[in-house]
Amino acid sequence: TTGIELDAVRKAYPDGTVAVEGLSLTVRPGEVLALVGPSGCGKSTTLRMINRLVELTSGRVLVDGEDVTHVDPVALRRRTGYVIQDVGLLPHRTVEANVATVPRLLGWDRQRVRDRVSEVLDLVGLPADRYGRRYPHQLSGGERQRVGVARALATDPPVLLMDEPFGAVDPERRRDLQNQVARILAEVGSTVVLVTHDVDEAVRLGDRVAVLSRGGHLEQVASPLTVLAH
Ligand code: ADP
Ligand code: ADP
Repeated sequence: TTGIELDAVRKAYPDGTVAVEGLSLTVRPGEVLALVGPSGCGKSTTLRMINRLVELTSGRVLVDGEDVTHVDPVALRRRTGYVIQDVGLLPHRTVEANVATVPRLLGWDRQRVRDRVSEVLDLVGLPADRYGRRYPHQLSGGERQRVGVARALATDPPVLLMDEPFGAVDPERRRDLQNQVARILAEVGSTVVLVTHDVDEAVRLGDRVAVLSRGGHLEQVASPLTVLAH
């Protein structure tokens, strides 16, 4: 498994907004690191610097010891699954086709794609024979979110980046989905960075919790119990 290291990372957007300042942080191989803090404190920016959807201004980000600015972005994204709040499933494609998108782009042969799609759909509890042919609008919000997780896992990435993955799920179902996702993450053993503004969620899902304050300053990295005690 793969670790991630952020070393004195800074991001200033072109309009002068400093989103992240002097952030140094290690994500250990195989752990779930929850990155928590108020809205606007730089969580998404931090996450997106790991897969280079955002280019950093200064500092370094290492994935598996490799400086991400030296890795081809396509190769980097193959190694870093990405799950976002609105999932972004293609509405006119079935669940199977959505999950198969990246493996197909990578030129996997049909049988390999089919096998992998059914494997990851099983993993998230949406077996292909029942759910594979549905369209996103024929799923509940939580089911759509799990398809998003399956899609991110399709290429078996060593790193999984999750940005408010439960943000669009109604509160009554959120706890249940969190538990399911926690189980999935434990099973796949990927290194995970989970961004959330919800301390409760961070504590429940994180092996460790990193707390950011406004301006992207790191306040502390601690075990969930320590964070709860604060
Ligand atoms: P969070 O994920 O914690 O809500 P973000 O990383 O989205 O925080 O944003 C951090 C700060 O950077 C905020 O002040 C936000 O307005 C600003 N920001 C985010 N994206 C951009 C952008 N593309 N251009 C300018 N400022 C941005
Ligand atoms: P929610 O209340 O979370 O929005 P829905 O009422 O949309 O959930 O769906 C409840 C259940 O019915 C889910 O398991 C979903 O997969 C299933 N379902 C919803 N729409 C369809 C459909 N058009 N065809 C088959 N199953 C569906």
